[in-house]
Amino acid sequence: MIVLMENAVIYLALILTGLCLGSFAGAMVWRLRARQLAEDRTNHEVYDKDEYQRLKKLTTGDTVRDRSRCLNCPYVLKWYDLIPLVSWLSLRGKCRQCHDSIGCLEPLIELGVMLLFVLSYAFWPYPLGTNLEIARFIIWLVAGVGLAVLFAYDTKWFLLPDKVSFSVIGLGIVSAIVVVLQSADVTSALLSVTGSVVILSGIYLVLYFVSRGQWIGFGDIKLGLGLALLLADWRLAFVALFAANLIGCLVVIPAMISGRLKRNSHVPFGPLLILGFVVAQLAGMYLIEAYLGTVI
Ligand SMILES: [Zn+2]
Repeated sequence: MIVLMENAVIYLALILTGLCLGSFAGAMVWRLRARQLAEDRTNHEVYDKDEYQRLKKLTTGDTVRDRSRCLNCPYVLKWYDLIPLVSWLSLRGKCRQCHDSIGCLEPLIELGVMLLFVLSYAFWPYPLGTNLEIARFIIWLVAGVGLAVLFAYDTKWFLLPDKVSFSVIGLGIVSAIVVVLQSADVTSALLSVTGSVVILSGIYLVLYFVSRGQWIGFGDIKLGLGLALLLADWRLAFVALFAANLIGCLVVIPAMISGRLKRNSHVPFGPLLILGFVVAQLAGMYLIEAYLGTVI
């Protein structure tokens, strides 16, 4: 009974923090986009002028106020406009003042992060007894928020902002150190981390140089490095790569058949890699065991 109560409290806490951090991630996506457009403008690069005008207000003022404005009118959002999911649902995705659509990125990213938090706890393949083990789990959740930003940004604008990728790499380094520290065999743990990096990042690096940046962007290499460090296991890196390509086929082939996707359409690889990575971390160990079970 006590264990049941304890679990219920943990799940509730994960749902609430997931929704709040998802909301933060959504705001972050717009803020990063606004800064990117402003940067492109000062560097005299090609940029969307209408979009720049619309998002311009997010580049000025302090970061707390940044998020709390309607993108279509001067309305400054109140606290009750910022409750994850609830506000969006009660306003049916429209601004309270100008009734313009505010899009569905916010609720989707809030739900996405919440779901990631809940599933992570439900399927976490490692014990959560010691401080180090709990630390690794928390690093994973924080990295998950960054990955949600990258996922949304890459899907919308085919780009992985460096600032977020580097944060994920930083978290990955700390997580990999934790993994090595708690392992009984340090050498093989280090080798496994290195193998993971070679598989998830090294292969892309080779593809990048062979194709001179045509097949794969450098952003994918940085993302791959962060994900490899977080997995810290070469076998899981393989599962992630396999799952990413499988999910890619499942998405791309039906879209091509239905004609929504042309042969030369650009498909962002970042979101696929992130999905494959989540599958690998949460289900990879079970998959490997099941596979070895059938082989032996
Ligand atoms: Zn408005």
